[in-house]
Amino acid sequence: MSYQEIQKQLKNAVDMLKLGDDVYEILKEPKEIIEVSIPVRMDSGKIKVFNGYRVHHNDARGPAKGGIRYYPTVDLDEVKTLAALMTLKCALVDIPFGGAKGGIICDPKSMSKNELERLTRGYVRMIYNFIGPERDIPAPDVYTDAQVMAWIMDEYSKINGNYAPSVVTGKPLCIGGSVGRSCATGCGLSFIARETMKYLKKDPKKTKIAIQGFGNLGTVVAQRLYEMGASIVALSDSKGGIYSERGLNPYEVLKHKEKTGSVVNFKGSKNITNEELLEIDCNILIPAALENQITNKNADRIKAEIVIEGANGPTTLDADRILEKRGIIVVPDILANAGGVVVSYFEWVQNLYSYFWTEKEVDQKMDAIMTKAFYEVIKVMKSENVSMRVASYLLAVKRVAEAMKYRGWF
Ligand code: NAD
Repeated sequence: MSYQEIQKQLKNAVDMLKLGDDVYEILKEPKEIIEVSIPVRMDSGKIKVFNGYRVHHNDARGPAKGGIRYYPTVDLDEVKTLAALMTLKCALVDIPFGGAKGGIICDPKSMSKNELERLTRGYVRMIYNFIGPERDIPAPDVYTDAQVMAWIMDEYSKINGNYAPSVVTGKPLCIGGSVGRSCATGCGLSFIARETMKYLKKDPKKTKIAIQGFGNLGTVVAQRLYEMGASIVALSDSKGGIYSERGLNPYEVLKHKEKTGSVVNFKGSKNITNEELLEIDCNILIPAALENQITNKNADRIKAEIVIEGANGPTTLDADRILEKRGIIVVPDILANAGGVVVSYFEWVQNLYSYFWTEKEVDQKMDAIMTKAFYEVIKVMKSENVSMRVASYLLAVKRVAEAMKYRGWF
C-alpha cells in the first residue's frame, strides 16, 4: 500500500463521518519527519553512510508508537504509510498512543553484529530529541529484534543520564521486556480468528486454514489455531508451501523447518507454490508474510470465505473491492495484527511503574482488548453497512479526530 492509498482511505473515512476538511488537512500529512544520514565505521575501517527516517504521523491520542525497520528497500513513502497505519491501529484498539515508524536503508544480513550496533547507536544519537517515553516509543519491525531495542535503550539512557527502559518496547526480559511480547501478534490474531469464527457461527473443528508465511507470526497463529481444533491445511515460507487435505501439525512442521531451513518437503504433504497456497480450498486464508499478495490478478480465484490479514497491507485496494463484491469477509490488518502493539503498550506501562505482570495476565488483558475492538468494529460494520476495513477506519479516524478536537487542533 502506498501513502496515496492511505490518504484515499483517510479521506473516505473523514467524508463518511462528516468531520470536515480541517480534519483531513491535518491527517493527510505526517506531523513530523526526520531524515538522517548516519556515518558508521565498518569492520573494514572505512566509513559508510546509511540513510534513515523516523516519522510521526499523528500524536493526538498519546506518544507516537511504531517499529523500526532495517531493510534495503526502505523508503520514505513506505515509512509514512506504516506510520499512518500505526495511528489507526492504536486508535482502533483504543490504546493511548499515536502513530510512528522508522526505517534505515541497509542490508542487515550482510552486516556484522558490531556494525549493526554502531549503526543503531548512531541512529539513536541523531533522533534522540525525536524519541522518548512521552514522545515516541520505537519497537522492533522487519530485521530488528530485542538486541537492537536493547542498544537503543542503552544509547538513549547514556545520553539522557538516566535508566530509561520505557523509551522502547520489545526489549529482552532482563532489561524491562514484557512476557508474551515475542508471540503477541500471533496470539492477538488467534483471538481475532476465534471471535470471527464465533461471530460467523463456524465450528473451529470444521474449519480449514491456510497460512502464507511460517515466520514469527505465522508459526504462533498456526499453533494456536491448531490447538483450537482447526485443520491447518497449508503453510508456506519464502522457499514454497506445503498442503495436506488431512491437516498439518504445525509443531512437527516447525521441527522440520528448523532441521531443513524450510517447510517444503514435509513428510506426508504435497509441495505447492505460494501462489497456489493463496488459491487453495480452505475456509480461512491468513496472509502472514508480505504486502500486496492478494491483487486484482488472483482475487477472483481466492476460495476462502474469510481472509484475516496478518501481514501489513497484504491486499491491494482493487483486490479488496473484488473480495467484497464476492462476499468474502476481510478482517483488516489494523485489527488483526494489533496484538503486537497492545503488548508493547503493556510493556511501556510495566516499565513506567516498574512492576511486571505474569504471562497469564498479559494474555487475558490482551484478549479483552482485542475482543472488545472486534465487536466494536462489527457494530459499526452493521450500523453503517460497510466492510470490516471501512468500519475499522471509521472507528479509528473518529477517535483520533475527537482527541484533536478536544486538544483544539481544529
Ligand atoms: P518473519 O520474517 O518472521 O516471517 C515472514 C515469513 O514470510 C517467513 O516464513 C518467510 O519465509 C516468509 N516469506 C518471505 N517471503 C515470502 C514470499 N515471497 N512468499 C511467501 N512467504 C514468504 O516476519 P513476521 O514477524 O512473522 O511478520 C510477517 C508479517 O506480519 C510482516 O508483513 C509483518 O510486517 C507483519 N506483522 C508482524 C508483526 C509482528 O509482531 N511479528 C506485527 C504486525 C505485523
